[in-house]
Amino acid sequence: MTFNYIKDLIHAIRSLLKGMKITLKYFFSPKRIITQQYPTMKPVLAEKFRGEVVLIHDEQNEHKCTGCTSCEIACPNGTIKIVTKQEVNEAGKKKKALDVFVYHLELCTMCGLCVEACPTAAIYMKNSYEHSTFDRHTLLRKLNQEGSKLQSGIE
Ligand code: SF4
Ligand code: SF4
Repeated sequence: MTFNYIKDLIHAIRSLLKGMKITLKYFFSPKRIITQQYPTMKPVLAEKFRGEVVLIHDEQNEHKCTGCTSCEIACPNGTIKIVTKQEVNEAGKKKKALDVFVYHLELCTMCGLCVEACPTAAIYMKNSYEHSTFDRHTLLRKLNQEGSKLQSGIE
């Protein structure tokens, strides 16, 4: 009994000294500290960090989304809803087109499966991360910009 108590005590003192050694190491060499004072200091994120799904638009406010719904089907938890409409093209033919790209950021697990499923590379995962909000409704996004249309040559 006494032997176990002494053994535990020695183990506890060893752990304490181990922790103190690290604390003292950083105390005497503050340049090694990597803790950042967020939000004054912003972290440098990896380019491939997945923070949100974005529909790419060019300078002409055109995107590559045909409304095929592959991303919606690939999404495991119903984060994406593609609403389509019928449009008449220059040849006078009716064609399916994107009406609203609905994205529930609050549901997104950032798995990236939607991006992989997209046949036209219309979407990508942006490395943004500051999405905290007091109102979850603000996380419901429409990804296609107002007045945007499909890039010519994309089928
Ligand atoms: S990243 Fe994953 S969870 Fe988020 S929308 Fe795409 S498929 Fe769905
Ligand atoms: S983003 Fe890509 S996969 Fe999703 S509907 Fe548009 S074209 Fe299809």
